Amino acid sequence: MTSLTISRRPVVAPLVGRPPLAARATVQAKVTVAPRAVPVPKDNDREGFSLRKAGAFLKLKLLNLFGVGERSAHLEKLSRDALLEVVDVKPFTLPDGTKRRGLLVFDFDDTLAVKDATSLPASSLAMMKQLQADGFELAVLSNKQYTAQTRPRYAPLEAMGVLVVRNVAAKPSVKAFEGALDQVSAKLGVTVKPASAAMIGDKASTDGGSALAGIDFIEVEKFSGAGR
Ligand SMILES: [Mg+2]
Repeated sequence: MTSLTISRRPVVAPLVGRPPLAARATVQAKVTVAPRAVPVPKDNDREGFSLRKAGAFLKLKLLNLFGVGERSAHLEKLSRDALLEVVDVKPFTLPDGTKRRGLLVFDFDDTLAVKDATSLPASSLAMMKQLQADGFELAVLSNKQYTAQTRPRYAPLEAMGVLVVRNVAAKPSVKAFEGALDQVSAKLGVTVKPASAAMIGDKASTDGGSALAGIDFIEVEKFSGAGR
């Protein structure tokens, strides 16, 4: 009788040969998919009437009567030169030692572009680039919701590192401006104080609420698009 020896050799899965090049090309062509759309970040709706907004508006108007929260400057036309003449913000230093001359927060509709604009005018983009080169940190705070439809108008600004504030209370609530400061602070890794910031916008009744948060309000005539 012969003894039975059981082989303990590990079982190796046979290598599966790769398909010939021509076949692989066919497979690749079949699995080509459309580029995935970049998801639109969530944002709340700040447009239209709300009791909270109306309350903030009445509070602002009441305080304005007593000389509190009024604009710190008025510009006929928004430009880098005009801004530099009136802006009075405290500089701050980033964790890496880089200095910023201050934070400029811009309204969008009727300030950087006409109302409901779907793109950013070249003149406004050029101004923002100049201000950034001047050493300012820049942000946009609009009451218009950030959606797939509004995103294109912010795209050139976002590409240069400008924060578009989202998910805050509607202007003129103090919380809108505090939220903007918080978001910029989180981005930069340093606490940006109200004294280091200015809000630039065409509407005292909404943008002007910044003054109640201790942020200078620079009022500007509605964007005309001409002569900048
Ligand atoms: Mg506006």
